[in-house]
Amino acid sequence: MTDARVNLLDLTRPELEAWCVERGGKAFRARQLFQWIYKRAETDFDAMTDLAKDFRAGLKQVAEIRLPEIITRQDAADGTVKWMLKAGDATRGNQGIEMVYIPEVGRATLCISSQVGCAMDCSFCSTAQQGFNSNLSTAEIVGQVLLAQKELGFKAGDDRIISNVVLMGMGEPLANFRSVVPALRILLDELGLDFSRRRLTLSTSGLVPQIYKLAEESNVALAVSLHAPDDELRSELVPINRRHNIAELLEACWSYVDEANGRSVTFEYVMLEGVNDSPAQARALARLLRGHPAKVNLIPFNPFPGTQYRRSRPEVIRAFLDQVLKGGVMATIRKTRGDDIDAACGQLAGRVINRTTSRLGSKRVAVSVVAQPATQPGAPS
Ligand code: SAH
Repeated sequence: MTDARVNLLDLTRPELEAWCVERGGKAFRARQLFQWIYKRAETDFDAMTDLAKDFRAGLKQVAEIRLPEIITRQDAADGTVKWMLKAGDATRGNQGIEMVYIPEVGRATLCISSQVGCAMDCSFCSTAQQGFNSNLSTAEIVGQVLLAQKELGFKAGDDRIISNVVLMGMGEPLANFRSVVPALRILLDELGLDFSRRRLTLSTSGLVPQIYKLAEESNVALAVSLHAPDDELRSELVPINRRHNIAELLEACWSYVDEANGRSVTFEYVMLEGVNDSPAQARALARLLRGHPAKVNLIPFNPFPGTQYRRSRPEVIRAFLDQVLKGGVMATIRKTRGDDIDAACGQLAGRVINRTTSRLGSKRVAVSVVAQPATQPGAPS
């Protein structure tokens, strides 16, 4: 039997207000409820003592505040923590997504997932090997942040433990637009988790139409997985490039910065030995981005079982960095964290039952990469 109760983590604040009003409640009750959930991390209606008893009793009948369930937790030597969480449709088997907590001096980043698996089929990514199963719900996306805070010891009245959230875990966030945009709204809400938009980063492999749409709906920081300075190589590494090439992608990026009042776009570039790491490729990359609001983040490739690629040597990565900087583009090298527990970029595998019959990397294109329209704000049915 399926549980028909509404998971309140699925609702943005205006949606929660409309939902309460529809049930004869007052909008300010919804605001109180919202703050109980996000400011005080309360999931038990009985503990929400300033809400009238009968209101609470009514809520319990029709609603719940349900966080994702933990399957495993691994702690790395450097303080990085990786969790595997139950996700997706339980009737289709025991599936898992992964999220990673990365503590650093002065900040604490949570890397969250947006889909069970991924259909983008990037050739150097472990998640791609799993195939795609399903989109996460808004509650499953927001729930990752609440759950991580709880796991890290957050108590009501504490300051938020997580300072930055990056949508860089499993999945392509822009292929799950319908759930991701409301989740961003909840994370940004000042009565909710109150993240500043500069501390929320969405990373995409380059779904061009959805980048334009995102600019209309949100203004979070944008990261783009570029990985190659020319279309031939990028189409091999990131197959979505066959549909939206580099020129189209960059145009969308510059428009995003204008529309969303952003500072710059971060371009991720995985360093693959002998594939995309030559000085000439570094110069070509700089030529593409010079004069635009761009910064480059070089990611040393993280290997996983069965991969054909190797990580570029440290001196090659440094030389590449120098060429990009010399070419007039801001660039950094991403520090690899949590690699002793396979928590580094591109190593998140989770547990995925593949439902795609074709991969983007092959000639035919999986239907699942087509993003659905965003939900209209308003009362949930
Ligand atoms: N689908 C989104 C977000 C998930 S991946 C995207 O493509 O941007 C987050 C980042 O890790 C991306 O830049 C991705 O290209 C990179 N990545 C994937 N596999 C990797 C690997 N094996 N080593 C290093 N980085 C990897």
